[in-house]
Amino acid sequence: MSLPYIFFLLALTIVERHQRLFYYILKVIYSLFILGRDLWVMVVSASPYEHMIGKPDVKYVANIHGNEAVGRELLLHLIQYLVTSYDTDPYIKWLLDNTRIHLMPSMNPDGFAISKEGQCDTIHGRHNARRYDLNRNFPDFFKVNTKQIQPETEAVKEWISKIQFVLSGSLHGGALVASYPFDNTPNAIFQTYAHSPSISPDDDVFRHLSLVYSNNHAKMSRGVSCKSGSPRFENGITNGAAWYPLTGGMQDYNYLWHGCMEITLEISCCKYPPAHELPKYWQDNKQSLIKYLAEVHRGAHGFVMDENGNPVERAAIRVKGRDVSYHTTKYGEFWRILLPGTYRVDISAEGYLPQEVEFIVIDNHPTLLNITLHSAKESGLNHSTVKILDPVTTSTTKPGNDGTIIFPED
Ligand SMILES: [Zn+2]
Repeated sequence: MSLPYIFFLLALTIVERHQRLFYYILKVIYSLFILGRDLWVMVVSASPYEHMIGKPDVKYVANIHGNEAVGRELLLHLIQYLVTSYDTDPYIKWLLDNTRIHLMPSMNPDGFAISKEGQCDTIHGRHNARRYDLNRNFPDFFKVNTKQIQPETEAVKEWISKIQFVLSGSLHGGALVASYPFDNTPNAIFQTYAHSPSISPDDDVFRHLSLVYSNNHAKMSRGVSCKSGSPRFENGITNGAAWYPLTGGMQDYNYLWHGCMEITLEISCCKYPPAHELPKYWQDNKQSLIKYLAEVHRGAHGFVMDENGNPVERAAIRVKGRDVSYHTTKYGEFWRILLPGTYRVDISAEGYLPQEVEFIVIDNHPTLLNITLHSAKESGLNHSTVKILDPVTTSTTKPGNDGTIIFPED
């Protein structure tokens, strides 16, 4: 039986059904209202209504380009898969118990509404109703973005600013590759012709995250080009600017403005394939979609507190050699996805003495770093202190023998 393009009807049915059946993993739908059409976000988690302190929030956003339809379908299948596997699959249970997963199946419902099933290569439906490309519409670090900001973009910006997302994927179609920051480059004058990579301070991490997606995909890592004349990508990954530079992309914005590691996932050669092909796309991507999100539990995370144990909000977390600031949440939490190694991190906040901490990240076990900042006034000290911390493994994870993070045994 072939699946039709199901979208919201099925989504709502799933949610209603499982709110009754699995009320302890309730799904929340909230919407960011746009021009009469809503941008829907569904949260799947053991705690959908509330952030779990100390546990990360992650997201997928699909259908930014309205005619790239596969991603929005896959996110619906992902919702269904997660909620129906919670009781039977210990890995999914571990993931949902320790992560809040926010899914926006369509960022561009207006573009989708005019797109046509079966059109693989056209740009009809790519833009929003006002003919703006939403993946060229975000503030840009390298170049002033002169494009008028669109309501969809504003809504997503506000969403990202309210929730500290740690990891994210943006789903597109028209190629088969995982593309990572930066999308833009400091040398953007001849940007259409430049094909050199624009390397971010977290290049190793972004490459790793991209490989997790491509290696778990049925064929992405083979790097076969979609058709003659289109590029082939080694291992199915590429630096964004090395493919082609662009201004105003969403992934650079997530990373540089909010410390959220986002990559762009091109998951279908055909942008809007016939519905009967959808089960194949789901099978190809299912493992990737899940394993990628679990990567949020890699690296270091913890809390920054003052001497009285109160959380320090907006403390800057700067790993040496990676000149991007991450900030603590109102609960003092922070997350930093890192590969195994020894790191030094600077923690600073207004009114406190800065602190430098050395720590180790090992494979599969997140390192827990709890840091106490001392008031600059009371101590009378003006130098920073250095602490050496051993990795402290949390009780929620243990290493898998295939190099992935895996659920605990009871
Ligand atoms: Zn796209």
